[in-house]
Amino acid sequence: MPGIVMIDQPPGQGVRICAACKGELQRAEVNADYPPDGPLREATPYRRMTGLAAHAGLDVFELPADNAQGLAGAVQVVVDRAGKTRATVGLAQDLDEGLRTDVLAFAVALFADQADRIQKTPNSAIGIRREPQPPDATGPGHVAWHMAEACGRETTSATFTVVEL
Ligand SMILES: [Zn+2]
Repeated sequence: MPGIVMIDQPPGQGVRICAACKGELQRAEVNADYPPDGPLREATPYRRMTGLAAHAGLDVFELPADNAQGLAGAVQVVVDRAGKTRATVGLAQDLDEGLRTDVLAFAVALFADQADRIQKTPNSAIGIRREPQPPDATGPGHVAWHMAEACGRETTSATFTVVEL
């Protein structure tokens, strides 16, 4: 698995490229046209990520550490009254803010990519293990890393292993 390294372009251009997917890294910056209540105006990477999660249809709540069964979090896919597919995400209360940001980014990416797969598990739910894995160069882990990066979170990896619940 190739590591993900940010490469700076020659000085003056200010463009950083993801070594894994060659995508341009854009630290999300807001300008005058960005909505005043947009999530990227939040003060911290975690709060920005929470805002993005809400926009993506994920409801986030705290999971008391005693109920977290050693997991970082859990994602359950539900269909709301309007027939829209949404997710409920529980995050273990004892995670530090950095890890919490990464796990939530992974949950958002997983829901975007694999809501059907999660829905087909016995409880429409998966657990996310606490230990970050080596960075993925593709797939939800990689998308999660890009989202975390865009929110201003500096992390090596936002890839985790999942278990059926
Ligand atoms: Zn990339």
